[in-house]
Amino acid sequence: MARYVFITGGVVSSLGKGLASAALGALLQARGYSVRLRKLDPYLNVDPGTMSPFEHGEVFVTDDGAETDLDLGHYERFTGVAARSTDSVSSGRIYSTVLEKERRGEYLGKTIQVIPHVTNQIKDFLEVGSDEVDFMLCEIGGTVGDIEGLPFFEAIRQFGQEKPFGQCLFMHLTLLPYIAASGELKTKPTQHSVKELRSIGIAPDILVCRADQPIPSKEREKLALFCNVRPERVIAALDLKSIYEAPLAYHREGLDQAVLDAFGIAPAPAPKLDRWRDVADRIYNPDGEVRIAVVGKYTQLEDAYKSISEALTHGGMHNRVKVRTEWIDAEIFDSDDPAPYLEGFHGILVPGGFGERGTEGKIRAVKYAREHDIPYFGICLGMQMAVVEAARNLAGIGKAGSEEFDTESGGGRFEHVIYHMKEWNEGNRTIQRSINDDKGGTMRLGAYDATLAAGSRIADIYGATEISERHRHRFEVDITYKEKLEEAGLRFSGLSPDGELPEIVEIPTHPWFVGVQFHPELKSKPFEPHPLFASFVRAAMDQSRLV
Ligand code: GLN
Repeated sequence: MARYVFITGGVVSSLGKGLASAALGALLQARGYSVRLRKLDPYLNVDPGTMSPFEHGEVFVTDDGAETDLDLGHYERFTGVAARSTDSVSSGRIYSTVLEKERRGEYLGKTIQVIPHVTNQIKDFLEVGSDEVDFMLCEIGGTVGDIEGLPFFEAIRQFGQEKPFGQCLFMHLTLLPYIAASGELKTKPTQHSVKELRSIGIAPDILVCRADQPIPSKEREKLALFCNVRPERVIAALDLKSIYEAPLAYHREGLDQAVLDAFGIAPAPAPKLDRWRDVADRIYNPDGEVRIAVVGKYTQLEDAYKSISEALTHGGMHNRVKVRTEWIDAEIFDSDDPAPYLEGFHGILVPGGFGERGTEGKIRAVKYAREHDIPYFGICLGMQMAVVEAARNLAGIGKAGSEEFDTESGGGRFEHVIYHMKEWNEGNRTIQRSINDDKGGTMRLGAYDATLAAGSRIADIYGATEISERHRHRFEVDITYKEKLEEAGLRFSGLSPDGELPEIVEIPTHPWFVGVQFHPELKSKPFEPHPLFASFVRAAMDQSRLV
C-alpha cells in the first residue's frame, strides 16, 4: 500500500501548494519511487468544467475525459504521470455522490451526516489505486480554517489515524511575511495556522514556508518550538525565477530528505537529478528570444491559458530560446486592422475558447498571419477560426461561421462550416448529445485518436501517422466542406480514424500554418516538450531572423 503525504495550506491562498506537491513528486521519482498526485477541492461545483476561466483558470482535461483543476497540469508536467479522473474531486462531487446513494436507499434509512457519510466518501476517494504506487500525494485546496474545507481535513485526520503508524504524513505550507520596519521574517501567522490545524486534530510533520529570503536559524528554531516540528523539517520555499527550478530548490532545502526521514526510510536511495539540472540549464541559459502573440479572450488572467503558456516555454527550452509570450485580447481588433497589434511578432497562436465574443478579431489575426507568412498555430477554437477564415477569404463562402455563435444569437447569421456534433463513436458505443443538454460534460472530452496524412507537415512534426490527443469541444469542422477548402489551399491533413471528423488543417504553401482540433498543450512537459510546440517555436526562430 502507498505511503500518503497530505499537503495543506495556511495563512494565505496562492502559496504554490500545487507546485510544492508536484516538485515533491518529481523528487520522489528521482529517488526511484513511483508516485501519483491527487487534488481535493472544497468548492461546491461538481467539477471545474463549468467554471469561468476568468475566475478559476484553465480546465485541465485528462486522457479519460475528466475536466479537472489546473493543478493536475502541474502534477503531469513535473512527474510525467498522466492524471486520471480519479485524481481530482470537489465537495460538489462528494456531496452529489452521497446524495445519489441516499436516494437509491444505499444507507438503509440512516440519517446522513458529514461524519461519517461525507468523510467516508472522501476516504474512499483517497484509497483508489493505493496499491499501484509507492507514494500518493494528496493536496487539499483552500486554506486551513475555511468552513467548506473542514470535511476534507476531518477525512484526512481520520485516514491518518486508521492507517498503520508511519503510513501518512502531513505537510503544511505557510507564508513568512517580511516586515521591513523590523527587518524580520515573521513567524506568528504560521504559528496561528498550525494552531488552527492542530485544533482539528492534525499535527504537521513538515512545514514548508514561503519566504522572499532565507530563513535565519533563530526564526527556524522558533517555528520548530512553537509548531512542534523538528528544525530540519522546517523547509524554506524561496521565490524562484522559474517554476522549473522548484525540484532542485526543494532538494537543496532538504524537502525530499525530510519526507523520507519522517517515514523512517533509511538509508534513502540517492536522487538522480540530471533531468532537472538540464531543464534548469535550458531555462536559465537561452541563446536567443522569440516573441509570440497569443490572441485570445481570457487574457487578463494568465492562469486561464496555463498549459499553453507552459508548453510555449517548453518549446523554447527544446530550441534553447526564451519565448516571450504576449497576451492580446482579440476583441480590440474585432472590427479593426490587427496589424498595429501584431506587427513584429514571430508567431501567432489562437488558443481554445468558448462563445462568440472576440472571434471576429481572431479571424482577422488568422488572416494577418496567413497573408504575412507568420507562423500560425490554432488550437481548438483557433483551428475552427482558421477554417472559417479560409472559407470566407479563400473559398468565397462569405457567410461562413460556427453554429456556436448562431446558437447564442438565435440563428441564421452564418453558414455553418463548424457545426454542433450530435452523435459520435467512442470505442464501440455511439454517443448522442443535444445542444440543450446540461452544460457539464456535454463535450467530446479526453483522448481520441487521429490519423495523419503521410507526407504532411503534421506527420513530419510527430514523426508518426497515428496519434492520440486530448479534446474538449462541442463543435466540429464540417467534413463536407473538405473538398472545397482543399481546392482553396487548406489541407485536411489529419482526420478521426473513421474519416468523419477533421482533426488537423494546414496550409502547405505557408512557412508554418497548423490548426488542431485538440489540445496538445495538455501533454507537454519540460523534459519532453510537445513536438508541435517545439516545431512552432522553431518556425518562430526562422521568422525572427527574417524581421
Ligand atoms: N467553443 C468551441 C467548441 O466547443 C471550441 C472549444 C475549445 O476551444 N476548447 O467546439
